[in-house]
Order: sequence, then structure tokens, then C-alpha cells
Amino acid sequence: MIYQQHMPRDEMVSAQLELLMQNSRLPTLSVQLVGVVASVLMFWPFMQITTVLLSAAAFLILLLARSLHMSTALVERRFETRPVLLYWQLLIGAGITGAVWSYVYIYAAHSIPVSMQYAFLLIIVMTAAFSLGFSVVIREYFLAYVFCALLPIAWSSFIHYQKEPYNLLIGLVLLAFCALMVYITDWTYRTFRNMIALTWEREHFTQELGDLTGSLRERNRQLRDARRQLTALANVDELTGLGNRRLVNSVLQKEINRARRAGAELSLILLDVDYFKNYNDTYGHPAGDNVLQKLADIMQRASTRAGDLVARYGGEEFILVLPGASSESAMRTASRLQDMILEERIPHGTSEIADQITVSQGVITVRPDGAQQATDLIAMADAALYKAKDGGRNTIAMH
Ligand code: GH3
Ligand code: MG
Ligand code: MG
Repeated sequence: MIYQQHMPRDEMVSAQLELLMQNSRLPTLSVQLVGVVASVLMFWPFMQITTVLLSAAAFLILLLARSLHMSTALVERRFETRPVLLYWQLLIGAGITGAVWSYVYIYAAHSIPVSMQYAFLLIIVMTAAFSLGFSVVIREYFLAYVFCALLPIAWSSFIHYQKEPYNLLIGLVLLAFCALMVYITDWTYRTFRNMIALTWEREHFTQELGDLTGSLRERNRQLRDARRQLTALANVDELTGLGNRRLVNSVLQKEINRARRAGAELSLILLDVDYFKNYNDTYGHPAGDNVLQKLADIMQRASTRAGDLVARYGGEEFILVLPGASSESAMRTASRLQDMILEERIPHGTSEIADQITVSQGVITVRPDGAQQATDLIAMADAALYKAKDGGRNTIAMH
């Protein structure tokens, strides 16, 4: 599949949890810390110093524990392994933090002057407003904090609306603030989710595109290999494993061009088995094939120089292309070949020249000029071969 359009639900939850913990841990801690310090300064002159400090310390320990919980969850990737449990733990943590603020306001704020009380309430509202930016990626998490921090205060203000002159107003303002948060977060939360989904889709798209490019590259490599193998196969004679006529034609033309440029000599030996038709008729075609394979081995052993080409030109005819070889050197190779074949003593009862397999060879040596083509050289070698046949076979003839 090249493109999956929708991010699965569980992956979305995991991504939200990861993003929330990565982005909100330190900002939450900082905002809460500022709130705590400001509150301590407010309560300091009006309450017992130890009570104020102990409460602040307890609250800070709670905040640190939450932060630590988030970092271990991140390290252990619990947002992937146990997302539901983590989700609820985070929600409860946010709720408890909010509840601490409302508790302090409801049960301790009456010990400070009214104007300070309102300032304290403002601190609580500010912590909620600041949290919006970095914790709304999970809307419930943010609302858990806001509701637990503000709704109990609103409720208490309504109940005690006669105690303080502005209690009713405070309750109404807080309710309106909560309603506003519900409205705003609905929009921002959806934007966050869309952003996460888009990032996810882009990553998957890029990855699939990368995989596709990789497999295309691999397929290309296989095609190149296959083409190389096909070319090699097209140049190989199946029976003997030597080069075939196709290879001879292309190599010979290259060698002619090279010799022409270098002003060098080029020799050819064309070799034909004597009375081979008789051999096949006597011993059968498969035995004839074996002889051709043995001869191919011998020829490969006889040509020792790098750059020499031994090939089966067709039927029971073989060719040796010897670049740079003089006529003497080519004759030496031909006679070595003849000796090696005779030494092999392959019985041939129906040969009219010997009781074993013999070959005739036509040798040519040229210093190619501008006009000579591969076919011209082959024709010359063929003529020499016929001379050898005419000369009684089991012989070597020079053009
Ligand atoms: P000479 O060359 O001495 O004049 O006689 P010849 O009998 O060898 O010549 P000719 O060209 O008449 O016969 C060539 C024979 O080579 C004919 C065919 O049976 C045999 N031959 C050609 N290709 C193969 C092959 O692949 N396997 C076998 N076993 N025989 C083959
Ligand atoms: Mg022949
Ligand atoms: Mg023959």
C-alpha cells in the first residue's frame, strides 16, 4: 500500500500522550512553581510560617512526583505499551493538582485580606490559562485541571454568596471561564489532532516511498544481473563451455581494430576434426559430443596466453584467435595442439587416415589494414583449412 490515509485510533492516543508528556512536563512545573512562590509570599504575613512552608513543600513534592512519573513513562514508552492506564494516571494527576488549589482557596483564603484573596484567585486562574498552551493536546487532561481548580471555588462562592460582597460575581465569572475553556479547547484540540495525523501520514508516506525506491533499486539491480547473465549465455557454447560463433565475431572485429591501431600482427587457427561424420556414424552422436568436449579441453590447455580466445565456430570446427602472435608462434601453437590431440589417442576405427582422432588446421597471420573485416579473415583461415584437408588431413596449412 502506498498511502494509508487515516491514522489508527490507538496510534493517535499514543502520539498525543507522548507529545503531552514531552511538551508539558517542564512548563507545568515552572508555572506551578511560580504560583506556589507567589502564594507563599501572600500567605506568609497572615498564617503560621511552618504551616505555609510545609504545605508548599508537600505540594512541590506532588508536582515533582508527577514530573518524574511522566519522564519514566516516556523512557519506558508506556504511551505505547499501556496507553489507557497512562491516560487515566495523567488525568488523575492533573485533577489532584487542580483540587489542591481549590482546597487551599476554599479552606485557607479566608485567613488573608479580601483583596489578597482575589489576587490569589487570579493566580489560580492564570495557572489554568497558561496550561492551555502546552497541555491541550489531550483536552480532558487540561479540563480535568481547570475543572478541579475552579469549579469547587465557583460552587463554594455560590453557596456563600452572602459572606463576601463579590462571591456571586466570582462564581459566575469562574463558570464563564470554564465554559470559555470548554469552547476554546474544542477548537485547539482538533487542530492538534489534525497536526499529529498529518505528521503521521507524512512520515508513513515518506517511509513507504523510501521502501518503494529501495525495492525498485533492487529490481533494477536484478534486471542488470539478468541481462549480464543473458549476454554471457548468448556468447557461450552449451556443449563445450567455450565461446561461440557470436563471441568470435565480436571479439575478432575488436582485435582487428586493435591490431590495426597498434600495427601489430593477428593470427587465427581454424581447426576441423577429420572424418568426424564417420566417427558419429560408428560410435554414435553422444560419443561424438564427448570427443568435442575433450578437444575443447585440449585447446584451452594449448592456448596459454592471456587474450587468446578459444571458441567453437560451429559443428566440429573450432577457432583460436591469437592477438599479437606471429606466424611462427601461431604455427608452434597449432603443432602443439596437434601433438596434444595425438597424445590423447582417442580411438577412431573408421578414419581413413589414422586409427585415432586427428584434426586438420588452417593458420593465418595478418597485419590488418583498413579494409579487412572479421569475415575476410575467417574466409582466409577456411581456405588454409581446406588446403590442409587437401594435403591429406592431420596436417597444418598456412595461408
Ligand atoms: P572431414 O572434415 O575430414 O572432411 O570429414 P567430416 O566427416 O568431419 O566432415 P563433414 O563436415 O562432412 O562432417 C561434419 C560432421 O560433424 C557432421 C556431423 O555429424 C558432425 N557434427 C557436427 N556438429 C556435431 C555435434 O555437435 N555433435 C556431434 N556428435 N557431431 C557433430
Ligand atoms: Mg567440418
Ligand atoms: Mg570434419
